[in-house]
Formats: sequence, C-alpha cells, structure tokens
Amino acid sequence: MSFTPSISPITENNKQLQELLLDPGVELPPLLPALAFALNDLSVLPIDLSLDPSKTLEEQGGLTVEEQEKVRLLAFAALQRLRDEPLGNNNVSDDDLQKIMSWACGTDLNGSYLQMLKEELSPNDNDLRSPDWVQTEVDEERDFTVAVIGAGMSGILAAYRLKQAGVNFILFEKNSGIGGTWLENTYPGCRVDVSNHVYCYSFMQKHDWPHFHSTQNVLLQYFNDCADIFGIRDNIRFGTNVSSAVWDENEGNWNLEISSENGEEIFACQSVISAVGQLNRPSYPDIPGVDTYRRESWHSAHWNHDYDLSGKNVAVIGTGCSAVQFIPRVAEVAANTTIFQRTPNWLMPRPQYQQRLPESLLWCFDHIPHYHNWFRLHLFWRSHEGLLPRLELDPDWENPGDNSISSENHELGLMLRLYLQSEFSEHPELLEKVTPNFTLGAKRFVIDDGLWAETLRRDNVELCTEEITSITETGIETVGGEHNEFDAIIYGTGFKASEFLTPMKVVGRGGIDLHEQWDGDARAYLGIVAPNFPNFFFLYGPNTNIVINGSIIYFSECEVHFVTRYINYLLANNVTAMDVKQEIHDAYNDRVDAGNRQMAWGISDVNSWYKNASGRTAQNWPFSLLEYWEQTREVNPSDFEML
Ligand code: NAP
Repeated sequence: MSFTPSISPITENNKQLQELLLDPGVELPPLLPALAFALNDLSVLPIDLSLDPSKTLEEQGGLTVEEQEKVRLLAFAALQRLRDEPLGNNNVSDDDLQKIMSWACGTDLNGSYLQMLKEELSPNDNDLRSPDWVQTEVDEERDFTVAVIGAGMSGILAAYRLKQAGVNFILFEKNSGIGGTWLENTYPGCRVDVSNHVYCYSFMQKHDWPHFHSTQNVLLQYFNDCADIFGIRDNIRFGTNVSSAVWDENEGNWNLEISSENGEEIFACQSVISAVGQLNRPSYPDIPGVDTYRRESWHSAHWNHDYDLSGKNVAVIGTGCSAVQFIPRVAEVAANTTIFQRTPNWLMPRPQYQQRLPESLLWCFDHIPHYHNWFRLHLFWRSHEGLLPRLELDPDWENPGDNSISSENHELGLMLRLYLQSEFSEHPELLEKVTPNFTLGAKRFVIDDGLWAETLRRDNVELCTEEITSITETGIETVGGEHNEFDAIIYGTGFKASEFLTPMKVVGRGGIDLHEQWDGDARAYLGIVAPNFPNFFFLYGPNTNIVINGSIIYFSECEVHFVTRYINYLLANNVTAMDVKQEIHDAYNDRVDAGNRQMAWGISDVNSWYKNASGRTAQNWPFSLLEYWEQTREVNPSDFEML
C-alpha cells in the first residue's frame, strides 16, 4: 500500500537531464543511494562523497560545490543507464543495502540499525512493520476485544494493526471525525513543523505533498485517506466520550463508561489502548485576572474563526511553535499586534519551511525508483539520530559562557546565533530580545524560514518582553505598571502536556486510581504500560516524546508494534492479562531519568513543557531511536506478572 504512483520512464535527453540535475530543488544527498539501489550497483557510491554526519543540517548535506558537481556527474551517468538500459535485477542483498544505508547516513550501521532503517525506508513501499500473525492462527476461540480511544494519528494506526492481526476492536472518538490534533488545531498558519516526508507512516509514504511541511488541512486529508484505505471507519464510534475505565479483577475485563448522544453505557473489553494524544488540553496562563477579561479571547487550539481580526488591536501571549505559526497571519490583518514573550526560543532555519515542492524534486520522485524512500531516510537521519549527539552533555566540556554542554552543542549554537544576527542585523533591540540564553535543545526549536523576523520587523507589531502582572477586563498590565487595552487576546500558551490521560478516570488492580498512582508524575514502562493496569496501553505516553524535530509517528509505530506483540503473547499462551512488574518499571524509569539528566533539556532549568510540576523530564526519550525500536521489538514475559 502506498500513495506513491508508479514510476514514469525517463524520456528527457542528455541535455535536459543535465539541466535538471543543476536545479537546486534536487536534493543531492539521497540521489546516489537511490540510484545505487535502483541499479543494484554500489559503484555509483564513491567513498569520498558519503554524507558527513557533522554537516547534516547544512544545505545539500554540506557538500562543497566541487563535491556537488561530482555527485551530479555520477547521477547523470546513472540516470542515462536508467533511461537506456532495461532495469536488471534490483534484488539488493541485505549486505549491499547496509552499505548503501551506511553511505547515506555517513555512519557504519550495524545489523539492528539495518533492520530498523529498512523498515523506516520501506524500500519497495512494503509494510515491513505489519503483524506477522493473525489471531485465527494463534487462538481462534478466544473472545478478545480491544477498545482503542482516540482516532488521531496513533489511534488509527493501532486500529489498523489490530485489523491486520484479525483482533476484534472498536475505536471510540469524542469528535465527529478522524484526525485528532489535525482536526482540532485549525489556527491560521497551522502546519507540521517536521518534514512531511518523514511525518507520514513508514508504510503509507506519500511523496507528492504540496509543501515540504504541509498545512493542517492537507494532513487532515492524509489521515482521513489512510483511515479509508485501512478500512477501519466502520469500527469507529464517533461522538463518543470515554469517561472512565475500570478493571474487573474477576472477569479479567476492562469496563469503559462511555457516553454519546445515545446516552451512557458500559462497554466491556479485554484490553484498552489509550491514543488520546498529549498536546490537546489547552493550558491557560496562571496570570491574575485571566478570567476577568471581558472582550474576545481564545486559545490557539480553539481558534475563533467567527471573529474578524481585521483592524483590531490584538494581544498574543506566548511565542512557542504554535504562536510563531499564527502570529504572522494575525499581524497581516490586525491593526496592531502586541506579542508577549516570556522566553525567546532558538530558531532552527529551514528555508523550505513553507515552500512548495519544486518541479525538479517532483521529477525525481516520479522518475527515479525509490528516490522518495531515500529522501525520507535522509530526513529521518538528519532530523534525529544525526542530531542527537549535539544535545548530549560532554562532562569534560568547559562552556565559554554560552550555556553550551559540548563542543557540538556550542558549534550548533554559533550557527543559530549567526542566523539570528543575520535576520535581525538592522534591529539590535529586537536581536537582544529574541536571543535565548538557555542551553540549546533544552526547549523545542522553532522552525523558521525568515517569516518570524519579517513579522517582528513590521510597524504594526510590538514584541513586549516585560512580565505580565495581570489581565484586566479590557487588557493586559505589565510589571512596569503599563496597561494596554486590546480588542482580543489570543493564548498561544501551549498544553497541559504532563497531565497524561486526563480527564479520564482509570482504575486498575486493587481499585488503584492511575492519576493517584502518578500523583502528577506520570511514568510508564517503555511509555506504554504502568504497574497495576493490566492490558492497558498508552500511546504517546510518558517519556516517548521526540525532541529534535524527528517524527512522532516513528514512536507510535514502535509502540503499536509492542502492543500487538503483547496481545499475541496473551493469545498464544492463554494468559488473561499481564501486569508489568514494579521493579522492572522502576529500573527502566531510573535509567530514562539518568539519560535525561545528561541531555540539554534535563540539564537546563529553563521552563518547558518537557518537564512536569516536580521538575522531572516526563516527556522526553533521551536515547537513540534505534534503542527504542530495540526495546519495543519483543515482549519479555519475565517483565510481567501473569494474571
Ligand atoms: P509551548 O511550546 O508550550 O509554548 C507556550 C508559550 O506560551 C511559550 O512561549 C510560553 O513561554 C508561553 N507562556 C506560557 N505561560 C505563560 C505565562 N504565564 N506568561 C507568559 N507566557 C507564557 O506551546 P505550543 O506553542 O502550543 O507548542 C507546544 C508543542 O506543540 C510544540 O513544542 C510542538 O511539539 C507542538 N506543535 C507542533 C506543531 C506542528 O508540528 N505543527 C505546531 C505547533 C505546536 P515560556 O517559553 O516562557 O514557557
């Protein structure tokens, strides 16, 4: 299954091919690996042109002009072969695939990496992560139903995997449609801040996104299309809220209290997958008077499309990823926009952020077999595994006063400071206000293509960095005592990220309440299961957040794989339920905590949604993506108490 149309034959003559390769829209780093793979010929890959891991953030993978010319020459010869010769056997052996991948990532990849990246690359658009079992082969008789809660990105994935495994399931969704965050967030300017070629399922890759980073409506359509292709729509009960889940020790069931326009009922099932999302409960600031404001106000996640901002005097509180996306749109129509910034964010330059895919790149997708897969792999690598070491503490590093934690972190900081300086070169006061002083990577980077500086430089925009002391009936007062009136206040103040699974009540073994057990400090083994809650799974649970703009879909795919392996174990071994052992859970969390303490976000004391009220990093995964993949491969029965 794939959204990728079949490859068109190359009809361009040599001159046209040469011109095409000169177009800057052609992404060179994945070009030779794709051609080597298509031609099943490693000689296309000269050693000296392999990706330099230290330059992953640079344009064209940091290739010099001469190196780019060499790549184009090799690609030209290979394209001629693709055009003129019948495509031979492209059954690339795993050994050769490993070599091509190692070349593409600039790292000698070992066996596990090969399998994980192969799944991520999905070279022939195969679904390499689909369950390799079906219930009828394991235990045909067993009455086993799974309730999935939430029809967002991870919920429909879980539903599909259960369907593939032939396991009975029903999906409850409180909204009237599919899409989760992409259904609820409709603010102007909303788009994915991760490259779209990695922000899609590995087994449902799509190459012809209109933009490098699609807008909300395009993503909503993608997930709806996926749900239709998955054939799961009939298993979804829309407009249905799950208010509680209670474990019945005697029956070995979960009883869900659900409500819809048809009333309330209890639904019994053997397992629950919570896919309720994490960044969807709006957080309003704890500012005195916040409830007293009498004019228009709303949160970014609940945009008021009925209110016309034209000619209005607008305040925006917050400068995180959401606010930076919608503020430029507000500033275009409002008479004046005042932005209240508490902490400036590090901007990560990405010139293509709002650009359409260039024709030359689309040509490559359409004519070079597997180019889109290798393009995805390139993005995957450079956005996470390749970047992670830059956010890790080097205990021997002596920072030169910039809060850096290693030489790589310091160097990245120099690059990002240079970017800020170039963007605000003629506006020193703004430059001072927008330059962060916290460790790079301690908060999520804000992706930027220059629009932020352009917006802040507008005559009708003011960046206020004074602390807000109160919100009044008509406006906002700051620490200097100045009061400004506004027609509307828009809150870009983020989400209650640490309040996992709220407001749902979950009661497990011995009547233990999940929220009481967590007491504001949510933890789980692999982010998926917690002691006392047998057969209850979390997707996007504690410490499964990806930090450096990699794709959260990767984590969901690993989590859902683990869940299906777990269910397979229950069915194959006639086990009613499993409960993760407390000591396994605790040791795992100790290790994650220790890992997070070595990372930028764990070291810095800057405020961020990565941390919960007790200051613990409750969101982030501190290790490599490979490690999460490895840990979620198989269920280890000795980690669990069998019920
Ligand atoms: P956020 O990153 O938590 O930002 C909230 C903003 O509100 C921050 O600037 C924060 O300042 C400010 N704020 C909070 N309380 C305040 C107060 N009392 N006074 C003044 N300022 C206050 O929330 P977000 O922008 O909604 O983004 C959350 C996450 O959602 C992102 O990190 C990203 O993972 C995801 N997201 C993804 C996309 C996408 O892919 N399309 C888009 C948007 C968001 P401080 O920095 O000082 O706390």
